[in-house]
Amino acid sequence: MASSHEASNSPEKNLAEQFVERNQQAIKALNDSIFYFGELGMQEFETSKLMCDLLEKDGFSVERGIAGFPTGFCATYGSGEPVIAIHTEYDANPDNSQRAGVTEQASIVEGAPGHCEGHNVNGTVMITGALAAKRAMEKHGLKGTLKVFGAPAEEQLVSRPYYVREGLFDDVDLAITPHIGAEFGVGYGLIQSALISATFTFHGESAHAGVAPWNGRDALDGVVLMDVGMAEYREHMTKSMSAQRVITNGGDQPNVIPRKASVWWYFRDGTAEGATKLFERAKKIAQGAALMSDTTVEVDVMSAVWPVRGNQTVAELVQREYERVGQPHWSPEEEKLARELQAKAGVKVEGLRRDVHRMKGPAIQKPAANDAGDVSWKVPMAKMYFPANIPNINFHHWAAGVALGTSIAHKGAEVGAKALANSIIECFLNPAIVAEARRTHKKEIEGYEYRTMLPPDQKPPVALNAPMMAKYRDAMREHYVKDTPVFS
Ligand SMILES: [Zn+2]
Repeated sequence: MASSHEASNSPEKNLAEQFVERNQQAIKALNDSIFYFGELGMQEFETSKLMCDLLEKDGFSVERGIAGFPTGFCATYGSGEPVIAIHTEYDANPDNSQRAGVTEQASIVEGAPGHCEGHNVNGTVMITGALAAKRAMEKHGLKGTLKVFGAPAEEQLVSRPYYVREGLFDDVDLAITPHIGAEFGVGYGLIQSALISATFTFHGESAHAGVAPWNGRDALDGVVLMDVGMAEYREHMTKSMSAQRVITNGGDQPNVIPRKASVWWYFRDGTAEGATKLFERAKKIAQGAALMSDTTVEVDVMSAVWPVRGNQTVAELVQREYERVGQPHWSPEEEKLARELQAKAGVKVEGLRRDVHRMKGPAIQKPAANDAGDVSWKVPMAKMYFPANIPNINFHHWAAGVALGTSIAHKGAEVGAKALANSIIECFLNPAIVAEARRTHKKEIEGYEYRTMLPPDQKPPVALNAPMMAKYRDAMREHYVKDTPVFS
């Protein structure tokens, strides 16, 4: 006998949900495979291969290595309109190799990269949701095209502005990007901030630092003086601006004046215009630093993203599916793990969330950025948060890695994939809602002209993170999951 939930659902959505339930083992294997791959941005070779193979095996036509991104892909199923795109990231972070299910900082491989923002679950939800929706499209003859975009290097905010620049979203009508959270959530209006990521490399002349420093021109001085200039400028930034940096090359040893030194900056603001203004000012400060240190400076923009915005029509559509699917049923063991970890991490102890909340109105814009931003100005988009992590735990902290290879992540991936598949199916069943989203999106961005902030000839940074990944990959390989995901 059908449950009341099944009775209230369309047969297409029931089919998708049954697909997810039938494939719990494959979901676990996929999620944990990506977790243990732990691949950094632009180096997601194992991860993207696994995802592409699964999509191809299920009948998607897969284009690998799109827009100059070796680990990016676009998989297509179906034909005609509407064209619905889903896209997400699957990269890890440096030095965050955290063992799953352990409530203390403990490395899988000391010093190695690892997932601490749950992008492994993002990938799992996207693939499972795509396969589930495709099964429903096939069985029920739904008209339309589903596109699945793999987006490398979100942690460095790289790929999607390039995808948009290449025209990959020109024929897309509506987009959804799934992202891990502690509960279901979706918003509209401005959700995240704009960001420009750029490295400043100073060039000088080396000399013996002890014997003849007067013969050298110190590139590190350029970096340090730029830092001083930026610190002074902070007083004059508007409240929505902020800037962060790491010195990626400060020279090799103290007895050689460095002829080359680099600093990598992130410039943030609530608007693309504000981020650009901040970046332009930083370039002037860098020129001043070069002048003072008698060096030259070269600026390389790695990426530049618009703030993520949510379209109200798509947000409401996704919210209805959240309420239909519901939060996972957490076990006492999962609740115990959550409470122990919250206590250990020194955050509010409240266990796991059990209710789906109503959407509260326009989102509150956060300083975080995501390279999905450019897509959201091009087409109506929802950022779809699903519950697969422990509440109150901050991302990029060891504690944020604990749940990602456990049943908390697996159950979260299941409900996330159901909500995603159902949202896609709703668009194919009801194309009028897609037209409505396009209409409201146009209205929402009225007065803004979207154009990429990437320099016109900027190329994707394909070598990004390669040395660090090469250093750890062999040791990490020993921990790879043996179980291969097979969806039936
Ligand atoms: Zn993320």
